[in-house]
Amino acid sequence: MTTIAVLGAGYAGMRTVKRLVHEKVDARIVLINNNPYHYESTQLHEIAAGTKEPSDITFDIRDAVSDKVEVVIDAVERIDREHSQVILKEGEPLAYDYLVNALGFESETFGIPGAEENSVSFNNIDSALAVREHMEKTLANYATSHDENDLHIVVCGAGFTGIELLGELAWRVPQLAKQYSLPEDLIRITCVEASPKILAMLPDNLSKWAVDYLISKGIEIHNGIVITEVRPGVVVTADQEFHANTIIWTTGVRGSHVICDSGYDQKRNRVVVEDDLSVKGHPNEFLVGDVSAVPDATSGRLYPTTAQISIAQADVVAANVAARLAGREPHKFTFKSLGTVCSLGPHTGVAELNVMGHWKLKGHKVSMVKRMVNDRSVFELAHLKEMLESN
Ligand code: NAD
Repeated sequence: MTTIAVLGAGYAGMRTVKRLVHEKVDARIVLINNNPYHYESTQLHEIAAGTKEPSDITFDIRDAVSDKVEVVIDAVERIDREHSQVILKEGEPLAYDYLVNALGFESETFGIPGAEENSVSFNNIDSALAVREHMEKTLANYATSHDENDLHIVVCGAGFTGIELLGELAWRVPQLAKQYSLPEDLIRITCVEASPKILAMLPDNLSKWAVDYLISKGIEIHNGIVITEVRPGVVVTADQEFHANTIIWTTGVRGSHVICDSGYDQKRNRVVVEDDLSVKGHPNEFLVGDVSAVPDATSGRLYPTTAQISIAQADVVAANVAARLAGREPHKFTFKSLGTVCSLGPHTGVAELNVMGHWKLKGHKVSMVKRMVNDRSVFELAHLKEMLESN
């Protein structure tokens, strides 16, 4: 029987298997993931800040997918593309006829000296919990050390991850101060960002509102400054040093290391795919989500990696695997963004939406939109609708 191997149970992998079942493909569908659970990667910053618990953003993969999907819990080490096999850490190699690689992202340090060793970063539940643990332990340590650097948190990079994390931290600091009996005004949060403009992808009035909001919460933002090195407890730039015992690294992402370990022609572990999302010269291999690089047909520029685009890609890939199995022509991927939502803690944020018109939103309303977006993804992935209807 034909085997379709889907690697990774993030947004893209979960959506792919759901759509393959929907397409009623006559094939064995195998979903491989290193954990038995799916997590909402767009909410990891909330785990890192401590505003949410892992159980709030995870669910069991087996509960969420159809019985028609075989779930294998194992880590993918690499893909033996010559022999069409997935090499696993524990189990026997899995032979495939079609491969959908949705192995997601890892933190990117761009080779900056000391960044990996001397900062903490997060790309999954365990690392987000480790960030939180490091921050809380360091704050608690102040009681005995009286070292001001124990009360200083530096966030490196002000992309969406950095900004959303700063928003959560601004909200969390008063709680942490109380929890560890610390004077709240002594806890400092600083952000260091290379680009002169923060949240450049949003309209000016929204990015300004977001920055002003964070500053009003006491966060120091230093933009237009490139981090060149991280030493233990020190973030180094050309003209300044920032001393802090919690340094959180959020300067961007690259695709899974499995991409370079498997010999793909890649840049930052992302592979430029064909317009049907297959790999050039390998029509049975598809890449979706953060391991893929998809050029916008009009501008030629690569789309940014977001959960929204991953889900849209998964729909097309599942349809294209079904098309190939049935001897039909595959579809071309096109994408129209529904917009961007950037939270600033649990109760506010900024958003630009292209749904039923064009909306620029700021303030409390955005947190409701964000909740709806999050719930929608859980809702779709976990078949909650079917579950509710069947009871
Ligand atoms: P990013 O690449 O979007 O942002 C990283 C930031 O770090 C950039 O602003 C960059 O200028 C800065 N930076 C890089 N090197 C630096 C250096 N040496 N010194 C100082 N600053 C430096 O990465 P991200 O925020 O991790 O996001 C990754 C992807 O996920 C993006 O495509 C993003 O759009 C997406 N994302 C979206 C949302 C959302 O839509 N709400 C949330 C999180 C992530």
